Amino acid sequence: MDEKQRIWNAVLGEIELNVSKAQFDTWIKDTYIVRMDEKEIVVCVPNSFTREWLSNKFHTLIADSVQTITGEVKTISYEIDDRSSLKNRGNHIVDLKGSVGAIKDQAPEYPSSAEDQASQEQTQSPFSPSAATGSSDHAQTDSNFQPSTSALNSAYTFENFIVGGSNELAHAAALNVAKEPGTRYNPLFVYGGVGLGKTHLIQAIGNSLAAQDKHICYVSSDTFISEFTKSVRQGNITQFKAKYRAADVLIIDDVQFVGGKEKTQEEIFNTFNELYSHNKQIILTSDRPPNAIQTLNDRLKSRFEGGMIADIVLPEFETRVAILKSKCEQKGFEIPEQYLYPIAEHIKSNVRELEGTLNQVIAQAQLLGNRVTEDMIRRVVAGSTAEKAHSLDSDTVIDIIVEHFRISKEDLLSKTRRQEIAYPRQLTMYLLREELDHTYPGIGKSLGGRDHTTVMHAHQKIKERLSKDYALEQDITLLRNKLYNS
Ligand code: ADP
Ligand code: MG
Repeated sequence: MDEKQRIWNAVLGEIELNVSKAQFDTWIKDTYIVRMDEKEIVVCVPNSFTREWLSNKFHTLIADSVQTITGEVKTISYEIDDRSSLKNRGNHIVDLKGSVGAIKDQAPEYPSSAEDQASQEQTQSPFSPSAATGSSDHAQTDSNFQPSTSALNSAYTFENFIVGGSNELAHAAALNVAKEPGTRYNPLFVYGGVGLGKTHLIQAIGNSLAAQDKHICYVSSDTFISEFTKSVRQGNITQFKAKYRAADVLIIDDVQFVGGKEKTQEEIFNTFNELYSHNKQIILTSDRPPNAIQTLNDRLKSRFEGGMIADIVLPEFETRVAILKSKCEQKGFEIPEQYLYPIAEHIKSNVRELEGTLNQVIAQAQLLGNRVTEDMIRRVVAGSTAEKAHSLDSDTVIDIIVEHFRISKEDLLSKTRRQEIAYPRQLTMYLLREELDHTYPGIGKSLGGRDHTTVMHAHQKIKERLSKDYALEQDITLLRNKLYNS
């Protein structure tokens, strides 16, 4: 390994500790040092988008890491490596074609066992569509397999999508896809908790491309599953396949629900390969990154990871205010900005809830002859947060933690200090304190009889780390999101 490589590996290791996995995989992983002298390091990046992103967002972090590793201050510049991106892409396509061929050879005829499995997949479906996503998210399920462009909600546009630190990566990627579909960021995989704007963003891409006469197929994964199952049962699988393969842009929303559904996954895999090999754009959303979707088979996982992965987290305060302002404008209702502050300050679960609270405020205001008062806002906000907090108890928090970290409740409540248990336990304490307002002794009791000073210490520790540790911040956001949507 040469000097450049050694240094860069160390720098990458340092950076990896400070950014989310999605960011690392998307921006950092495929870079390397192409030239280096005493004064300068030239970093090679796969494309101009990455260069822009690194020099705008990650430059300080990179420069700091270089300084830590080399002990010297160097100028860092970025250079595009066209050949490497072409080469990678070429390989990828060859690989895909190989797979398509292999799959086509054993063209699925769906014997009765497959049919059984497919029907089972539907009945075993652990979610109810209406609870899983808003009704506007849904494609019309009809037996004729009409194109799904109509399922797009025309209200979801780029113009009214507010951009902030929490979603700028996903937004930038989405814009890029809308500009050049089927090229660089294929597939685009957007993940994040409930109500954070995933559907809005990907439908904005859909609307923008539909306006350019692209044929858009938008479908939530549960609709895809039920259409697929139905078509197998009714023997019109050919029509089903034709529908999705005719798309210029295939958008599958909430794809996490295909976890464990083997036949559906196989169908998505085949459709994916078919579209991809014709440079058609594929867009996916999920509540978690591909590698965290349980029972998603490996080949589909690697397809989903093969393009651009971007996460969306809860917007920070300023962005929440901006979103509220924009929603007011859309509804043609004026509320002085300072009146929006308490809403933005207290509603931290997700954007959908933020909007819901705003709607309540507007509804009440209209009853009062379009008068908005600070007092009324406070009442509405107190109402919706109290309602939430009231319905939550320590068991809910524990259940969510146990599910999220895939550990057992016994371990969580036990005395073990193993890091993979101790960390979730500290987070449990933190959430019980911050979100449910439980007392330190109360929390100690809920967690298998621990001393209140232990709880206090854990709470403090998490709080201190929070501003510095991006991964921790993401965990908390995700958990909070799950909590308020439980
Ligand atoms: P998800 O698909 O992640 O569950 P949605 O896309 O359905 O979330 O968003 C929920 C609501 O919040 C929608 O009404 C959407 O318009 C709004 N919303 C979310 N993020 C933003 C944003 N950045 N700007 C404007 N509206 C947003
Ligand atoms: Mg959605």
